[in-house]
Amino acid sequence: MDSPWVGLGGRRGLAWVLGWLLFWVGGVGAVKAVASAPKAVRLPNVVLIYCDDLGWGDLGCFGAKGIRTPNIDSMARRGTKFTSFYVAQAVCSASRAALLTGCYPNRLGIHGALGPKQKIGLHPDEMTIAEVLKPRGYATAMFGKWHLGRPPELLPVRQGFDEYFGLPYSNDMWPRHPNAPVGTYPPLPIIEGDRVVEEAPDQSLLTRRYTERAVQFIERSAGKPFFLYLAHSMPHVPIFAGKDHAGRSRRGVFGDVIEEIDASVGAVLKALRRHGLEDDTLVMFTSDNGPWLSYGNHAGSAGPFREGKGTSFEGGIRVPCVMQWPGRIPKGRVCDTPLMTIDVLPTLAGLAGAALPPRKIDGLDVWPILRGDAGATNPHAAYFIYYNQGDLIAVRSGDWKLFLPHTSQTLAGGPGGTNGVPARYQPLRVGLELYNLRRDPGETTDVSGSEPEVLSRMLLLAEEARLELGDARTRRVGAGVREVGRVP
Ligand code: MG
Repeated sequence: MDSPWVGLGGRRGLAWVLGWLLFWVGGVGAVKAVASAPKAVRLPNVVLIYCDDLGWGDLGCFGAKGIRTPNIDSMARRGTKFTSFYVAQAVCSASRAALLTGCYPNRLGIHGALGPKQKIGLHPDEMTIAEVLKPRGYATAMFGKWHLGRPPELLPVRQGFDEYFGLPYSNDMWPRHPNAPVGTYPPLPIIEGDRVVEEAPDQSLLTRRYTERAVQFIERSAGKPFFLYLAHSMPHVPIFAGKDHAGRSRRGVFGDVIEEIDASVGAVLKALRRHGLEDDTLVMFTSDNGPWLSYGNHAGSAGPFREGKGTSFEGGIRVPCVMQWPGRIPKGRVCDTPLMTIDVLPTLAGLAGAALPPRKIDGLDVWPILRGDAGATNPHAAYFIYYNQGDLIAVRSGDWKLFLPHTSQTLAGGPGGTNGVPARYQPLRVGLELYNLRRDPGETTDVSGSEPEVLSRMLLLAEEARLELGDARTRRVGAGVREVGRVP
């Protein structure tokens, strides 16, 4: 029998020795590499749920009465409730532009709510959250209301979303017929990808259909990081609840609609749980603006705040917000630090290790606030609120809010409308007014006369905003304003 040592001087022996050497050098090297490599970090999935015209006071965890929202309330218990969360403008398109790009809508040339026949929208060169996350290997999908441009060239699938299904604009927008009786709603297009696949969908099925798509997407994407943007059309008027929810709440159709949205949140959370994804997923739930108060019993509530949608009072721009991410976002916490939707994109980019858009954005990474770091403060000097076609309306800085003179709207204490027919707003003249939101969250007492130093500091901040973002009211063109997306 050959001894293993026999023939060490031969060719086979040389190969054997080299093999051992390679084994040891390679093996030890590999061990060292493993020891020094950073621990593999799983990129977080992101689920962003955006309601339409849901008010600050419309969820159980925000004090709603007669509306049951156990799933959203569970998010607040298992995560953090943000009580000073702002949208950039109290109207659909502008609000959505800010959320998805991290920019004030003024910077993007997006104002108000785009109509179905307008040929403008979010410029294809602007980067959405989906486009920011894609280079990091994210699957991206959007289901629901887009409202950032109806032409096929401006739809979500041209803005970084792998797939899209939903209404391209508000569910009350249709080719208006002068004799159309109140309550009839002519065709709305359902778009899949960039094609109309259906006309006149049954609106009582919208919440369910968006939810089914969302759940399917989570199930298909479980193996890689994903970004899901679920933008409900509800509870924007006309409101409809599905048959499983109709007549179930103590708050009529409006309550039914919110309870169905809550069930949708439950279905999404359940899908995450089923696939073991809850700990790897940041779920955010919020709204695009406050309640459309003129619709009365078909509108929500701004809770303790003044006015609603279409105004820059707190009821229009402060929205309910809850976020959960077990182990990363503190559970059962209430955070009153002001935040705005413009901060979502840079915060998500930071979490995913993604590059920020090459063009200037306005939002800042607020992860230390979301994570609940002791002493974390808002990194902005101020937030700026625009309205109409680019009018600078208000500035929020610290506890203070400045209003610049403008005309707003109010029901002036009168009743809202009933069953889908709106009451008429009255114009409301707002002067140069200053409120301390900590002492006076309801914006009842103008203290501009007694706080001259705060007033002049806030006016300087307003002037800084005008330089960069413009102000139509004072006929200023901002240096940083870009072209809106336009198709010929
Ligand atoms: Mg809205």
